[in-house]
Amino acid sequence: MSIITSNEIDLVKAQTSKINAVDFDNLDFGRVFTDHMFVCDFKDGKWQKPQILPYQAMSFEPSARVFHYGQAVFEGMKAYKDNNGKVFLFRPDQNFERINKSAARMAIPGFPKDYFFNGLETLLNLDKDWIKSGLDNSLYLRPFVIATEPAISASPANEYRFMIICSPAKAYYNEPVRVLFAEKFSRSADGGVGFAKAAGNYGAQFYPTSLAQEKGFQQIIWTDASTHDYLEEAGTMNIFFRIGNKLITAPNNDRILDGVTRKSVIQLAEDLGIECEVRRISVKEIKDSARDGSLKEIFGAGTAAVISPVSAFGHGDEVFEIPENQDSYSKLFKSTLLSIQHNKIDDKHGWRHEVK
Ligand SMILES: *Cc1c(COP(=O)(O)O)cnc(C)c1O
Repeated sequence: MSIITSNEIDLVKAQTSKINAVDFDNLDFGRVFTDHMFVCDFKDGKWQKPQILPYQAMSFEPSARVFHYGQAVFEGMKAYKDNNGKVFLFRPDQNFERINKSAARMAIPGFPKDYFFNGLETLLNLDKDWIKSGLDNSLYLRPFVIATEPAISASPANEYRFMIICSPAKAYYNEPVRVLFAEKFSRSADGGVGFAKAAGNYGAQFYPTSLAQEKGFQQIIWTDASTHDYLEEAGTMNIFFRIGNKLITAPNNDRILDGVTRKSVIQLAEDLGIECEVRRISVKEIKDSARDGSLKEIFGAGTAAVISPVSAFGHGDEVFEIPENQDSYSKLFKSTLLSIQHNKIDDKHGWRHEVK
């Protein structure tokens, strides 16, 4: 047991739990939060003593820098429960490293590893009743950092708040999605912040995505900003294409988020003997393969949705339907990932992290 002594985290327990008011069979993603949250402030040049508090509203000065310059980064991860009530995280070291990589790009100080893991584990022990067993259930965890210093000069803040909030989740997208390949708007550019989970990357997608939705697509597949000829990723998921029996996914670069699900799928493909090429993918190649019938699947990969199959894509005025595939790779990867995450099958790469 990792017992957190009171001199490591100040803990204020919620007086009553909200859990009985929650309908766990009808959860709208990201609207319900558990009883506690983790909070740690950076000031006077260092991270202060972490706290766990009842989940609650907080107050900030209107001049807090995050409101003006978007100096904010986040992570998305999940906790899972097996049928014996044991709680697991999936490759949490990857999320820890990534939030600090995102933070560095946004001139935010790095967060200490022991604070991150002690905070997460203490929080999960307190709120573990909120994690339901079963492959459909998980607890979505949202670590994030915001610039709190009340000062509106356009420069990095001297004060920050790191937090973790937790939201019970059901499968995110149940239906296959229709996607539109980007031709005009861009998510990120060379030398930009696309590789970081920086808050502004997401807000900037809402408008182009709403235009795509008016045309009947749920999501955009972003293309390279300079030519729009190469497919890169979705708004919160990396993307895989299956041509024949071969998988293809774009290589990471500074425009693309280095997803934990993506790298796990690449490893699982290798384990299963499925060829996976990591290379540039042109819009033309995917349209040609859709026309000649060799395009078998497109799917997104990300923590929230795990694997999200794509049923059609649009480009300009053309729409290509992707026939449903009986033995799809997307179903295979989804069930394999969920089984590893929920402690149902052997974890030969050591991806599970038990919360004790
Ligand atoms: C979070 C995210 C992903 C998926 O990353 P995971 O680590 O698999 O959850 C992919 N693309 C973008 C833009 C993201 O923000």
